[in-house]
Amino acid sequence: MKKVLYPGTFDPVTNGHIDIIQRALELFDEVVVTVAINPGKSPLFSIDERVLMLKESLKDYKNISVDSFDGLVVDHAHQVGAVGIIRGLRAVSDFEYEFQMALMNRKLAGDLTTVFLMPHEKYTYLNSSIVRNLAGLSSDVSDFVPPVVIEALKNKFGRS
Ligand code: ADP
Repeated sequence: MKKVLYPGTFDPVTNGHIDIIQRALELFDEVVVTVAINPGKSPLFSIDERVLMLKESLKDYKNISVDSFDGLVVDHAHQVGAVGIIRGLRAVSDFEYEFQMALMNRKLAGDLTTVFLMPHEKYTYLNSSIVRNLAGLSSDVSDFVPPVVIEALKNKFGRS
């Protein structure tokens, strides 16, 4: 029974994240999607909102759980009994930061393996911050995020 942790900010979850989760489910028995409480960032959505949107978007999938954590990713991976950490790689621009994190996590916890997955090409330019900006400018984001997120963005930006 191999569990893997997929940590991120998910502010909000996008179809790119979901693509990565689907790929991870083909490799592992269970994926724990975990929302990082990052005091350095000022997110648009609260932790509870981000967890709820993930739960709703993933409700039709088996072998997934969603939670949140405060602290080190490697500690949370150990707590949930994961054998590794999933991260998504979209482009070379992601590589340097992700490489640094993966090596630091390996130094902190040599028993955990970081696995990088690439999304479908159509998601390589997609990130949560573009989605937030587009939605804030009343642009249609329905190609990029699950329906629950479209609704949440409308509520956040005060439109019905
Ligand atoms: P973080 O702040 O930890 O980067 P994100 O929610 O932005 O949190 O992303 C979580 C993980 O998902 C990261 O590994 C990121 O590279 C990956 N990711 C984000 N958007 C996409 C996408 N469109 N396709 C593939 N991976 C993605």
